[in-house]
Amino acid sequence: MTSIEFLYKLKEYLPGFEARPSQNAMLTACERIITSGGILLVEAPTGVGKTFAYAIPAILSGKKTIISTNKKNLQDQLIQKDLPLLARVKGFRFAVAKGFSNYLCLLALRGFQPKTLTEAQEHTRLLRWADETEDGEIDSLAPPSPIWDEVCADSAGCLRHECPHYDQCFYFRARERWFGADLLVVNHALLAADAALWMQTGRGLLPDADVLIVDEAHSLESAFADASTQWVSRYTLENLMREVLALDPRLTVKAHAVLSRLQTLAPAFFEQVRARYPAERCRIAPEEFALRAEAELLLHALVQLRTAIEDFLAKEAPTLFAQSDQRTHLAKIRKCAAWIAEVGTTLLRFLEPASTSSPLVRWIESSANRTALCVAPLYPKTELQEGVLTRFQSIILTSATLSVAGDFSYIQNQLGLEGETLALESSFDYARQARLYIHRVHPPERGNLSEQYLDELARRIVRIIESTGGGVLVLFTNARVLDETAQRLRNRIDRPVLCQGEESRAQLLTRFRADGHAVLLGLDSFWEGIDVPGPALRAVVITKIPFEVPDDPLHEARVERLREEGRDPFNEYILPRAALKLKQGFGRLIRTATDTGEVHILDGRVLTRSYGKRLLQALPQGIEIRVID
Ligand code: SF4
Repeated sequence: MTSIEFLYKLKEYLPGFEARPSQNAMLTACERIITSGGILLVEAPTGVGKTFAYAIPAILSGKKTIISTNKKNLQDQLIQKDLPLLARVKGFRFAVAKGFSNYLCLLALRGFQPKTLTEAQEHTRLLRWADETEDGEIDSLAPPSPIWDEVCADSAGCLRHECPHYDQCFYFRARERWFGADLLVVNHALLAADAALWMQTGRGLLPDADVLIVDEAHSLESAFADASTQWVSRYTLENLMREVLALDPRLTVKAHAVLSRLQTLAPAFFEQVRARYPAERCRIAPEEFALRAEAELLLHALVQLRTAIEDFLAKEAPTLFAQSDQRTHLAKIRKCAAWIAEVGTTLLRFLEPASTSSPLVRWIESSANRTALCVAPLYPKTELQEGVLTRFQSIILTSATLSVAGDFSYIQNQLGLEGETLALESSFDYARQARLYIHRVHPPERGNLSEQYLDELARRIVRIIESTGGGVLVLFTNARVLDETAQRLRNRIDRPVLCQGEESRAQLLTRFRADGHAVLLGLDSFWEGIDVPGPALRAVVITKIPFEVPDDPLHEARVERLREEGRDPFNEYILPRAALKLKQGFGRLIRTATDTGEVHILDGRVLTRSYGKRLLQALPQGIEIRVID
């Protein structure tokens, strides 16, 4: 059976299924790359049916394939709907891989010492659940448990073959399924963790595979950037000390001197950091850090503590914890040792001299509740290159937003890769289904929010809500503007105003869909991944062009680096980023061929600035544009 025949066979299983020309084109391109190797970037607008287009050739190739997604929604769609359907046409094995903390650790559960009555009740419930559950996964546990963090599996503390529960271990049983699967679904965070482990040890968490398919590939770079950002805060050290002090007393007595020193050094150090660097976020070069000597003292004490623990683990622990019912102690000690090593590495990276070959960005975060030293690679290109791109014969990266008007250079630069590109036509009739309104509102400069601007914004949003009868998603770039707008809307309209942060995202979406006339206000994460097909969503309001916050340390460092290289940061980095985000926000409106609605951009710079044209070119073409004064 060819991929095209497979696709057409779906008609027998999916009433009303129609293969679309763009889906055929993607399927053919994916088949070619999977057969002959290479990298393919495919922009597949919503409605193309991209999951079938990449999964079918992967299944037919018989090659082991990993599919990585960013959001849980898409992972659930693959595992619960798309892959089971494809498996009815042609049998194949698939599984989903999740990180350690998604699974119950039987060793931690059996060794858990409740400190309160509630914890004791929870412990009893989880012990009962452990006997009943098939998979021991957090997603199967209802209601969620407040002691989950104490009893979930953890890579650093896991005893693996030395564990008395290894044969029944939920995590390792799941891992067997990953290795046996033809097609394994993961998320970008796990892919990043796998890449990091691969770079450190030459072995990953995930099984070796021939083909990697990255869906929602527009967020791959940020997932890797998040995974490679490290920080150490006063809170981290306090927690670490608490965990260490609760370890076996024979160890804590031996390490008493260094523990006492750390208990004095750590809070004093972070007090000094806060006093010296009071700004909310302050980017800093390692040679400019004024508290280097104090940080080195702290680092030295951490190294001594780690040495004391390693020594105890090597010389005394094997005899002391030989009995299987004492292994929990061993796991806790190993976990602490790994944690100390991680904190030490972060401090070391923060202090190490700047390098041009693998540049790092360092910054200090200070607030009443948190003082932290943070460090991240300028771009996670090395992690992507060495940890991912070199390990697969064929790589397909796809998303509805990978290019700016068919130009993939931004995403290729960000990910540090070259490959074949394919920008597919949308299967939606945007000219008929959508209208675009651009309002001549001029947002104030950052930090100059005026009452007048906020009133104007709210007044226009109220008008949109009145004309559409609700069903409006309003996207913001600033939390304060969202709060101020929510207050104003609640005073002026008589329908539910749902705000990000007031309930979980899933709860807000359920209420928004069910109501049909509600207004949903969201920040950054609501610009993508919100999928509300049908009439419950009739309008999307974009309150401002989504330019990145200029003082974000990573953003600032990237802009600076491009300038130093004599390049054009605005056109090569800032504008494409904003254009892709605008496209994502716009994409919330039309989710099916029968959806209709309107998008309002409340930012007149789209009309008055030279870059406005490029932003509009990034949006689906053929839509009627109206200007509102
Ligand atoms: S093998 Fe590791 S994760 Fe599994 S029960 Fe033992 S310690 Fe926990």
